[in-house]
Amino acid sequence: LNIQHLATTNKEEEFENKLRPISFADFQGQPRIVENLQVFVAAAIQRGDALDHVLLHGPPGLGKTTLSNIIANELGVGIKVTSGPVLDKPGDLAGLLTNLEPNDVLFIDEIHRLSPIVEEYLYSAMEDYKIDIMIDKGPAARSIQIELNPFTLIGATTRSGLLTSPLRARFGINSHMEYYDAQTIKSIIERSANILQVPIDEKASWEIASRSRGTPRIANALLRRVRDFAQVKGTGTIEIEITKYGLEALDIDKHGLDIMDNKILTVIIDKFKGGPVGISTIATAVGEDAGTIEEVYEPFLIKEGFIKRTPRGREVTDRAYNHLGKSNPNAMNP
Ligand code: ADP
Repeated sequence: LNIQHLATTNKEEEFENKLRPISFADFQGQPRIVENLQVFVAAAIQRGDALDHVLLHGPPGLGKTTLSNIIANELGVGIKVTSGPVLDKPGDLAGLLTNLEPNDVLFIDEIHRLSPIVEEYLYSAMEDYKIDIMIDKGPAARSIQIELNPFTLIGATTRSGLLTSPLRARFGINSHMEYYDAQTIKSIIERSANILQVPIDEKASWEIASRSRGTPRIANALLRRVRDFAQVKGTGTIEIEITKYGLEALDIDKHGLDIMDNKILTVIIDKFKGGPVGISTIATAVGEDAGTIEEVYEPFLIKEGFIKRTPRGREVTDRAYNHLGKSNPNAMNP
C-alpha cells in the first residue's frame, strides 16, 4: 500500500480541508518559519502594504498549502489558488492577476512546473505589479500594459532545485519546510482526533505518529483509517491494540517508510552491495526521477538514519539492513 497515494484521493481532500489549521496559533511545528512569517505579516499589516512574495519548499504533505491559507487569513485578504501545470497560457495568468483585490494572495502550487512563457509574464507582475499582454492577432497585434493591484505571490514546490534563478530571486521570503518530529505529529493527531470527535489514547497517538513519515498529511490519513477499524472492529475508542491491528492490516511500515523508500533501500543493498552509489544510478534502478529522490525521498531516509551521504555516493546504514531483515556483508562483526 502506498501511503502517499492513500492521502491524495478526493474524499481525502475533503477530509484534509476539515482538519486544516486556519491561524498561526493552530499550526503546529516549523517554529522558525512561523515566527518569522508572523513578524513579516504584522509588519505588512502595519504599513498597509502587500506582504513580500513567499516561496515555500519541502516534501509533500508538510503544510505548504495550509500555511499559505493561514498567511492570507492572518493578513485579512483573499486568496486565489492555482498550480503550475494548470496555468499553461499567459492569458490564464493575466485573468487571475487582474482579478486580485489590493494585497490579496495568489497561491501557485507546484510552481516549478510553470511553463517558461508564463513564468516570463510573472516576472514583471511580481516586480512592478504590471503585465504586458498581447491583444489582437496578425498585423494589428500589439502589446498593452496593465497595472495590477499590489499582491503577494506564494509559490509552493517540492523541487526547489528546478526553479530558475530569475524566479527564485523574486521571492523576498524563502522558507524550507522540514519533516516534523514525532512529538509534534502526535499533537497534530490529537488535535485532528478532537475535531473528528473520536477518543484516542496516548499510546495509540504515539504509535500512529511514529509511522507517519514525519508528515501531517500521512498522520491524518492513517488516523482516518484507524478510526474505521476502531469503529467496526473495536470499541470506538482508538486504543493501542486496534491501532496496531489496523496499521498491520494496512501494511504500514513500522518506521513509516513507503513503497518508494523501501525500494530505494532494497536496490542499494541488492544491486549495489549497500553502496556507495550515485543518485542517478539509484534513480534509474528504481524508475524514479533523480531530483525527486533527492528532494522528496532521500531527506527522510537520511534524517531517520537509513542512508548516509558520502563523497562517493549514497550508502545504506546498518539500520537499513535491520529494517529489511537482511544481513550486512560488510559489517565489522558479522
Ligand atoms: P502540502 O501543501 O505541503 O502538500 P498541506 O498544506 O496540503 O501540505 O497539508 C496536508 C494536510 O496536513 C492538511 O490537511 C493539513 O490539515 C495537515 N497539516 C499540515 N501541516 C500541519 C500542521 N503544522 N499542523 C496541523 N495540521 C497540518
